[in-house]
Amino acid sequence: MAMSITEACIGCGVCLPECPNGAIDADDSGRYFIRFGLCTECLTVHERPRCLSLCPIPQCIEPSQRRTETKEDLLRKVHRIAIHRAFRALDSAEGN
Ligand code: SF4
Repeated sequence: MAMSITEACIGCGVCLPECPNGAIDADDSGRYFIRFGLCTECLTVHERPRCLSLCPIPQCIEPSQRRTETKEDLLRKVHRIAIHRAFRALDSAEGN
């Protein structure tokens, strides 16, 4: 399942540039969150969630309780994101 950022977050921002999917963002109040649709638990890229490895605060990043996902679900998400990126790259190469 996707990861989520809990109330323990101090907003240090160390995770944001490290997410390979750009899934981490901050709202207007500076509170960090993870976009469920873009978080793949770093499957196929890192051995464990990169944000979890880097975060200095205990219990700040945890598996989301909102929805459960199997490894197959996450792999489908990895493929969907890759296809979306490929089309975007193609569009910008063609000047669209
Ligand atoms: Fe990004 Fe990986 Fe953290 Fe998900 S687990 S938010 S993909 S760094």
